[in-house]
Amino acid sequence: MCSSLETNNPNGGILIALRRHGILCTVFERDESADMRSQGWGVSIHSTLTTWEAHLLPEIYDGVCEAQVNPAIGRDEVRGVPWINGATGKVEQSVPKSKRLRIRKALMEGLDIKWGKRLVDIVKVEGGVRAEFTDGSTVLGAALVGADGSTSIVRKFLAPTTHELHRLPINALGCAVTMTEEQVNYFNDHVDPLYFMGTHPETDTFVFWSLLETPTAPGQTYRAQVYFSWITSDVDEELLKQPLLDLFKQKGRPFFPHMRDMVEALPEDTVVTKVNLVDWPYVEWDNWDGTCTLIGDAAHCMVIYRGEGVNHAIVDACQLADTIKSAADGHISISEAIRAYEKQMRPRAKEAVETSRQAGYDGHCYARVDKEGSFALLGEKPV
Ligand SMILES: Cc1cc2nc3c(=O)[nH]c(=O)nc-3n(C[C@H](O)[C@H](O)[C@H](O)COP(=O)(O)OP(=O)(O)OC[C@H]3O[C@@H](n4cnc5c(N)ncnc54)[C@H](O)[C@@H]3O)c2cc1C
Repeated sequence: MCSSLETNNPNGGILIALRRHGILCTVFERDESADMRSQGWGVSIHSTLTTWEAHLLPEIYDGVCEAQVNPAIGRDEVRGVPWINGATGKVEQSVPKSKRLRIRKALMEGLDIKWGKRLVDIVKVEGGVRAEFTDGSTVLGAALVGADGSTSIVRKFLAPTTHELHRLPINALGCAVTMTEEQVNYFNDHVDPLYFMGTHPETDTFVFWSLLETPTAPGQTYRAQVYFSWITSDVDEELLKQPLLDLFKQKGRPFFPHMRDMVEALPEDTVVTKVNLVDWPYVEWDNWDGTCTLIGDAAHCMVIYRGEGVNHAIVDACQLADTIKSAADGHISISEAIRAYEKQMRPRAKEAVETSRQAGYDGHCYARVDKEGSFALLGEKPV
């Protein structure tokens, strides 16, 4: 098996899980290095931590657990995500347990990653799949796993007529903000030290705030991310013509005073990003006789309102690693391993894409979350 399984690219989870099984494989990543992009978002990990613990080498699992956005909250603590009334900042409901981590670096530890390898083509050949990269190099593997995210090029080959993403009628803006200790303390004392989401009762704008970095040395600052989204309407085309920072401040103004003031004070050089709200509900593709498959967002891109994307990516990686281990042990063939993984993954992932889409709609209707407690937005996560 060694080097005959090619992964394009990290979701390095598959590699890490394979390492625990003693099987080596290689990741091909288009970025030139681990530091090329700033990984702006922290992620919430919930019940999949137990899946990880069973599949990661203990030292890697420890690294993941240490990668918390605020070490003072404690590595073993799991918390609910509060949902607030956006006008008052008062916590009204809560999503069951999760952990807030920045895990990318922890997961890369010790992996065989070939940087600067942007995949452009895959071809089915005798003995497996050949992958071609923009630098002209090619690699032949017995099997290829597309872990190349929501706009997956591998998916374009495996699902040529259905690979396009579905765009939801939701607009979203997000940015990283520097916060003072007083501001962080206010959220800590009145809402949550790590994160919250909420809906404004009059505008139905959705807000998500989460801590990204806690100072570990004098002179460092707190960093957090703030995200606003709203259901699109006829006026949006005009609204989005203005500088995104101005629109971001406009969306923040109706919120409770501490949120409003923090957003209003954002400096002119703040980079505000438009987030595309897209999903891929099909979760079906031709696996080329069991030689190619997809995991993570490439397989089942979903919108962020249930915070499940990474969690499913982790379970995919662990389930696929288990079936590949069976193949490596001679119990099944590699094509049977890929089919067995897909059979396990599809119903779980399809449901997650659909529920996440519903949570996206519910999160922009204060009355629905407030009165009905919207299962889609606040319900227990099944993975
Ligand atoms: C604002 C925001 C908040 C989120 N919060 C959460 C959360 O709290 N909890 C949660 O579970 N999920 C969350 N998610 C979702 C989560 O980020 C994704 O589900 C997860 O990153 C998917 O991992 P992945 O490895 O499949 O894809 P990605 O993380 O997109 O990784 C894809 C990789 O493939 C590489 N690549 C792409 N094309 C090529 C190519 N042609 N050749 C080589 N390499 C290529 C990219 O460089 C990248 O490294 C959030 C997403 C967003 C946008």
